[in-house]
Amino acid sequence: MPKKPKYIVLLGPPASGKGTQATRLREELDLPHVASGDLFREHLKNESELGAKAKEYIDRGALVPDDITIAMVMDRLSRPDCEKGAILDGFPRTIAQAEALDAALVEQGHKISVTPSIVVPDEVLVERVGGRRVCRMCGKTYHVRFNLPQEPDVCDRDGGELYQRDDDKPETVRERLKVYWKQTSPLIEYYRGQGVLVEVNGDQPIDAVTEELRTVLAG
Ligand code: ADP
Ligand code: ADP
Repeated sequence: MPKKPKYIVLLGPPASGKGTQATRLREELDLPHVASGDLFREHLKNESELGAKAKEYIDRGALVPDDITIAMVMDRLSRPDCEKGAILDGFPRTIAQAEALDAALVEQGHKISVTPSIVVPDEVLVERVGGRRVCRMCGKTYHVRFNLPQEPDVCDRDGGELYQRDDDKPETVRERLKVYWKQTSPLIEYYRGQGVLVEVNGDQPIDAVTEELRTVLAG
């Protein structure tokens, strides 16, 4: 019989390390990494209609409306590589998105396996965002102090140029943190109520967070 699909929802504020951890764990878990922010950035790069709609929200640190976001992520989840499940990163970010995801999974007889919530104090997040650099070609993430590339400003994986995201500038970051606490943090109680929430200490070195997540995901 085929293995039951596994859906993991990584919760956590901006720059808590969701993308970094998903990138490290996706191979050993043999699951695709579905990151809504990356999907939006692809659309922006390709200058698609969806990208044009999303841009004004992303630029000011607001959430893209639920209908656009839900349709984009569900489309991604319907592709063949997600038949075995997915590591979701950055989605859901509102209760409406979480309900839409639950409904879609229930319809297929599936459910979320576990929701690790990566906990990091706000002041640490501000430092992480400020030093985040991203590869223009593949989206791999680095940090100017905590996660350096081998050669300055060049991606280890494909030699792409590293850049700072526009929405990682300080003004927008403050707004994104506000949005997180108001619109996304209620998901912590939502998933606790479903019995799938596990808190993970994100305020430790990258390897230590990966180790803690491995334990949570094995349980
Ligand atoms: P971070 O990794 O710092 O948390 P993301 O790359 O996930 O940031 O998201 C960047 C921006 O893309 C968000 O500020 C928001 O504008 C938009 N976005 C990403 N995911 C969602 C979502 N699930 N719902 C609405 N907007 C989203
Ligand atoms: P998210 O996907 O939650 O927005 P990222 O994975 O992009 O977060 O991480 C944000 C920034 O912080 C990146 O520059 C990354 O290299 C760095 N980072 C991630 N985890 C840690 C950690 N445990 N300690 C220090 N820096 C980290």
